[in-house]
Amino acid sequence: MKNLKLASRMITGRTIVTVGDVKIGRGLVVIAGPCSVESEEQTIETARAVKDAGADMLRGGAFKPRTSPYSFQGMGLGGLKILARAREETGLPIVTEVIDPRDVSWVAEFADVLQIGTRNMQNFSLLKEVGQTGRPVLLKRGMYSTLEEWLNCAEYILSEGNPNVILCERGIRTFEKYTRNTLDLSAVPAIKELTHLPIIIDPTHSTGRLSLIGSMSMAAVAAGTDGLIIEVHCNPQEALCDADQALTPENFSGLMRRLRPLKSFLERESAATHVEDWSAARCDNET
Ligand code: PEP
Ligand code: MN
Repeated sequence: MKNLKLASRMITGRTIVTVGDVKIGRGLVVIAGPCSVESEEQTIETARAVKDAGADMLRGGAFKPRTSPYSFQGMGLGGLKILARAREETGLPIVTEVIDPRDVSWVAEFADVLQIGTRNMQNFSLLKEVGQTGRPVLLKRGMYSTLEEWLNCAEYILSEGNPNVILCERGIRTFEKYTRNTLDLSAVPAIKELTHLPIIIDPTHSTGRLSLIGSMSMAAVAAGTDGLIIEVHCNPQEALCDADQALTPENFSGLMRRLRPLKSFLERESAATHVEDWSAARCDNET
């Protein structure tokens, strides 16, 4: 991929993005929480539950990019203040989406990681703005985008001087209707051949089906993902956004029990070995 000056695998060893005590690119990082912040009670209850189950970071949207203008759009500033309180309560760093370039600088004061959603992947003014904050950025893959287009968007952020980019595969649009999107798990090893940036998987928005989230999480770990981002709601039936795909805290802690042995194994392994994996040897595949 000739256009990649900073994102290319050839430039440097693997990037590890540090957020507080969490290192993305080492072991397996789990980010969990509600689709959107709906109230202080809902957010803090969910935050405590995911923390107890072993999550490393809390997710939650205060700005929601919705298909319909009449759907809940998020709590905005009020939601960010609630997230800050949830962080105080649990110690979990916050991942939250920003959708408007004009909001980036003040949202960055609340967020530990700024999320760029699938619908905004190619919003170049937004990418430039988050590139200027220095805050880690979780860049979701556009639902209609190729790996090359996605990596060029990472390049926009890097070229503004922000090296802290985490990629997130969240499923792409195909003709399949059973799942909400099609999870492209091959993106994990492919991205590791193409770039030094870490990649995580979103099994929630990719499948849109509760019954598939556990298996796809395990499969993502087998494929070599650096992390998972999973929606959990303390009372999914009442969720204002993505109610059908949110795990209950009980579902989530069951999944974490399955993931825990793998998580500790991967943490031990990446601490013991300098993570310089075999994909480096295949960089000559680059086009
Ligand atoms: C989200 O994570 O809340 C979200 C809206 O995801 P996506 O941009 O992948 O649809
Ligand atoms: Mn959601």
